Amino acid sequence: MTVHRNFIGGEWIAASDAAPDINPSDLSDVVGEYARATRKQAETAIAAAKAAFPVFVHSTPQARADALKQIGDEILARKEELGRLLSREEGKPLADGIAEVTRAAQVFTFFSGEALRLAGEKIASIRPGVEVEMTREPLGVVALITPWNFPAAIPAWKIAPALAYGNCVVFKPADLVPATAHALAEIIARAGLPAGVFNLVMGRGSEIGDVLLTHDDVAAISFTGSVSTGRKVAQAAVTAAKMKKVQLEMGGKNPLVVLDDADLALAVETAANGAFYQTGQRCTASSRLIVTAGIHDRFVEALTARTKSLVVDDALKPGTQIGPVVDEGQLEQDLRYLAIGKDEGARLHWGGERLNREHQGFYLQPALFVGVDNGMRIAREEIFGPVAAVIRVQDYDEALAVANDTEFGLSSGICTTSLKHATHFKRHSEAGMAMVNLPTAGVDYHVPFGGRKASSYGAREQGRYAVEFFTSVKTSYALA
Ligand code: NAD
Repeated sequence: MTVHRNFIGGEWIAASDAAPDINPSDLSDVVGEYARATRKQAETAIAAAKAAFPVFVHSTPQARADALKQIGDEILARKEELGRLLSREEGKPLADGIAEVTRAAQVFTFFSGEALRLAGEKIASIRPGVEVEMTREPLGVVALITPWNFPAAIPAWKIAPALAYGNCVVFKPADLVPATAHALAEIIARAGLPAGVFNLVMGRGSEIGDVLLTHDDVAAISFTGSVSTGRKVAQAAVTAAKMKKVQLEMGGKNPLVVLDDADLALAVETAANGAFYQTGQRCTASSRLIVTAGIHDRFVEALTARTKSLVVDDALKPGTQIGPVVDEGQLEQDLRYLAIGKDEGARLHWGGERLNREHQGFYLQPALFVGVDNGMRIAREEIFGPVAAVIRVQDYDEALAVANDTEFGLSSGICTTSLKHATHFKRHSEAGMAMVNLPTAGVDYHVPFGGRKASSYGAREQGRYAVEFFTSVKTSYALA
């Protein structure tokens, strides 16, 4: 089998080590063999990016806009094929795979326009005859480290703004999903960027990660992943000899509040989508369903029926609504938390069984716990699987207090027909994103994305706000 190589300094470079990329829907299906970069190769990628920067920093906005537009156009033109590849390696249903690839294309196209719109400011000086202006400049070499659950969209929303503003990139995707990253790198490699501006280093974070985190020539790190890895990234970035700018997007334990006055059918659909779609493997998943007493029993009954109806099967099979868990390690974690929930005294109302399908894969029935207390581990720790916890509360005030009682603060939601409560919730939710009658997962690409508390650190991602992280402000004074 051909081994797919890393892209370093404009060349496709082989490595001595490679790993198979396994389809979680069918463990006999090897998507491909992917090279694992050595530490030396990660250093070479950083050196190539550093060497390319003095030229790329002075590239025209038009040149960068054209390259990003070309990348977006090719991704969009190949969305069916790339969506299939993504679903095959990650396990999300094909429609979701295609939708995610479409999103990646939209992100590149959006930042193609942003490259042209980068503006500065001029302001009157407090001193006579002096002119003051503020401009934005790229940072230099940026390391982009991404998780496995959005193999196309998250790389796109880091790579596109990095390049739009003139940075040089070393991209390290999660080792579970190299195929989508490699396909993306092939498209970027064809976009006419100078050699070294974009580099792909595939491999384990535990093996090559610290090269990216500690190297003197890396100016900034944008990371998305778990809280535990994020903390290591932050620590390394600020204790490195040359401190680095750092941006972290991490986990969530996102609450969806359902009030007595909610539209029941809409609330059930919102909860089922937020909790179980994409196998619950979204940082914005609704893992805590906080339900007021008057609607609680009707909601649980209707959500149970909806959960039972969800089709769990091969990601590529027509009709599949929930694909497999991504790998054995994640499946074990999900099963461990199911046992922890039962031990803590929560009632597993439905689901949580391993399932057999035509091919051997990591299939798990979506699981609904009821009688959950917000102090239990299943209500406090991110499980990252198709497991939702229903927490019964008396009224809106208690619901809001429970929603905010978490170390996380990524996304939150409320289902209600009360304008008063919807407005109050938007103002008082301690999360970076608040949704009314919408799932906690599912966002637009032209507006900021990010959280508070342990969920996020540093500047926001996406939309025009991405400029805050990927540029540095210069204030220039001149005596006219
Ligand atoms: P992870 O933390 O295990 O890995 C993320 C990335 O970090 C991978 O590329 C990995 O190889 C790399 N890495 C691991 N150890 C490293 C090290 N020592 N140095 C440098 N890099 C290292 O996370 P994951 O399992 O891939 O993804 C799931 C997590 O991501 C969940 O916690 C989820 O909530 C989070 N996530 C957050 C967002 C968000 O925007 N907030 C979005 C998607 C996923």
